[in-house]
Amino acid sequence: MRLFQKHFCAIAISLWAASPSNAQLLVEPTLHIKAEAGSGRVALTLDACGGRTDTRILSALVENKIPATIFVTGIWLKHNAAAVEIMRAHPELFELENHGGRHVPAVDTPQKIYGIRSAGSPEAVLAEVESGAAALAVTGEPAPKWFRGATAEYSPSAIAMIRKLGFKIAGFSINGDGGSLLGAKETARRIAAAKDGDVIIAHINQPTHAAGEGVVQGLLALKAKGLTFVRLDDADGIGDEGTTD
Ligand SMILES: [Zn+2]
Repeated sequence: MRLFQKHFCAIAISLWAASPSNAQLLVEPTLHIKAEAGSGRVALTLDACGGRTDTRILSALVENKIPATIFVTGIWLKHNAAAVEIMRAHPELFELENHGGRHVPAVDTPQKIYGIRSAGSPEAVLAEVESGAAALAVTGEPAPKWFRGATAEYSPSAIAMIRKLGFKIAGFSINGDGGSLLGAKETARRIAAAKDGDVIIAHINQPTHAAGEGVVQGLLALKAKGLTFVRLDDADGIGDEGTTD
């Protein structure tokens, strides 16, 4: 036991020593949509961080007429023209919003979040947000009103900066697929548990992951229960940490 304590202590100290002194406390904001009379509404948000398109999800959304807000990066837009074309062919279903130019976390001090290097400075946060909006403008889509940074974690000062640029920041209330790393069953269970006012986050850029199958199953279960889906632009989003007010 004493050996364990000693060892644990050594780990704690090395962790403390490894964290940069200027690392900020980050926030992971939540977002809900205003509840409405009826059988309930949820907002489905899907991140397209980079990589490819999960056509299992895209096809299911089109076939079942499920509206979604897709957060796209400049990187993803560059390599997924066919998917963008399908989304643009269904403007009643798909709202495209800003997930940044290069998928760099909107944190203005140098640190790593889930192993991804943060933007690291106010200028770099600005560049990430503005290059994401510029990449969307090239597609002919309406100008984005919402921003979600890579990893969905922010420094409070970055939140203030992004709000000043005119964007609302899209948190969530249900982590549907655990960064697309969950199994199909657990993903389906989480999504199917959504209630009136929830904002679901999942990914549409990992066609080889089991989670994508679960996303489809979970959405179909919600639809069968009579819940309706709205895009962020069609609902009043209420976020904490100063992300929407
Ligand atoms: Zn992402």
